[in-house]
Amino acid sequence: MQPGAEAPDLRAALLAWWQTHGRHWIPWKLRPDGSPPQAGEPLDPWPIWSAEIMLQQTQLQVALPYWQRWMQVFPTAAALAAASEHEVLLRWQGLGYYARARRLQQGARQLHDLPWPRTLEGWLAIPGVGRSTAGSILSSAFDLPHPILDGNVKRVLTRLIACPRPPARDAAGLWRLSASLLDPQRPRAFNQALMDLGSGVCTPRNPSCGLCPWQGHCAAYAAGDPVRYPVKDAPRELPFQVIGVGVVFNAAGQVLIDQRLNEGLLGGLWEFPGGKQEPGEPIEATIARELREELAIEVAVGEALITLDHAYSHKRLRFVVHLCRWRSGEPQPLASQQVRWVTPAELHNFPFPAANARIIAALMERLSLAA
Ligand code: SF4
Repeated sequence: MQPGAEAPDLRAALLAWWQTHGRHWIPWKLRPDGSPPQAGEPLDPWPIWSAEIMLQQTQLQVALPYWQRWMQVFPTAAALAAASEHEVLLRWQGLGYYARARRLQQGARQLHDLPWPRTLEGWLAIPGVGRSTAGSILSSAFDLPHPILDGNVKRVLTRLIACPRPPARDAAGLWRLSASLLDPQRPRAFNQALMDLGSGVCTPRNPSCGLCPWQGHCAAYAAGDPVRYPVKDAPRELPFQVIGVGVVFNAAGQVLIDQRLNEGLLGGLWEFPGGKQEPGEPIEATIARELREELAIEVAVGEALITLDHAYSHKRLRFVVHLCRWRSGEPQPLASQQVRWVTPAELHNFPFPAANARIIAALMERLSLAA
């Protein structure tokens, strides 16, 4: 197709559809009183920026209650800038991909007493803000003509042109297409309409082409197989690893937790200690070895508490968790930031990754049965 020639028709059709079917209720796209902004009227970028970072790896309906609580606690970038990292991670708990929260706080500290950037370069200089996030903030907050290319938009555009390559291999072409379609008079409305089309009509597995304003222009629809797009590379097998975990009790009934180093996906979060099982190693030996190597303590490994599988984007892990009794050695943070003995009731004061939250639930159930 020639999107340049068809762009005016596509814009008009999409905006007409959006007028009736768009998600006009998204709170960070509205004025504080809940009414829609006029064309060109600026909105506060802070709620939009917070939402955009949450939406990078989380669906809108899931992110919405987190965003509402987040805005109550951190109503301004200055409030987030002044918060402790512990509180930030605790408020983010459940959303996963905690590096997003840390980068958002870094960005808030970088920006909170400066004027809001109104250029792509200005936003790209902020930690955690990529080109699509920057385009979305600039168009949503200031109605500036910057294209976007998030997951929903990639899907719509690759279907529109029946792109024969995976989106990652044709990013430059898709950015050009998104820019050429963008309505320069109504960029905020157009980008939102494009996202709403991807979210509600051009869905991953079951697109409602009969309801789509672009059906008559869509190459994937014309080819009779929209779901074939976006084309994917062959899936690769994710590496699998078993992790032995110890929930270690001392004589006072406290459990031992450690805070991960500030790096990687789960940096700064708390966890129950443990580590990778070596080939042929019994899991009890793994737990005893890991606790010796990482905390310099000796434990008696007791009964199993829970086994759970958890998939990340790049690996699959199986956590085999045992209750343990502390025998000797003052716990040392040899592979973590700090270690702490806490009562089971205090565990909810610490931000844990999702898998550890399930361990805590199993622990609480076991303790309540034993009581
Ligand atoms: S016609 Fe179907 S595949 Fe094409 S953009 Fe619309 S919903 Fe997506």
